[in-house]
Amino acid sequence: MGHRAHEGLETAAWGGLSLLVAVGWFATARGLAFRWGLGEAAGGIGVATAATLVVVLWSWRSRDRQLEALAGGACPRCGGAIASQHEHGQRGRRGIEWWECASCGYARSESLTCERCAA
Ligand SMILES: [Zn+2]
Ligand SMILES: [Zn+2]
Repeated sequence: MGHRAHEGLETAAWGGLSLLVAVGWFATARGLAFRWGLGEAAGGIGVATAATLVVVLWSWRSRDRQLEALAGGACPRCGGAIASQHEHGQRGRRGIEWWECASCGYARSESLTCERCAA
């Protein structure tokens, strides 16, 4: 199985999972809203809750994918080689790891404390 096919399968699995979670939360939020006497607004509250959840899930997913690519030394946007740089933390400040892609301008930083960062 090629990398692309694997990626497609994973995305489909994630899509299915988000849908299930969204439907579950839609039902729960709508039920609760009904019980709280919100009546007609309940459907809207259910939809809003489910939509928010899907957005959160997908942003986690995209963060995961980006970090995965970065850990492998590849730019998540253009696939080119990308090197990480590290700035040690000092006096209680956490260390910072950052990446900058020379070809597409992608930039990202994460707080990361290594064993050589000052405690
Ligand atoms: Zn460090
Ligand atoms: Zn790039």
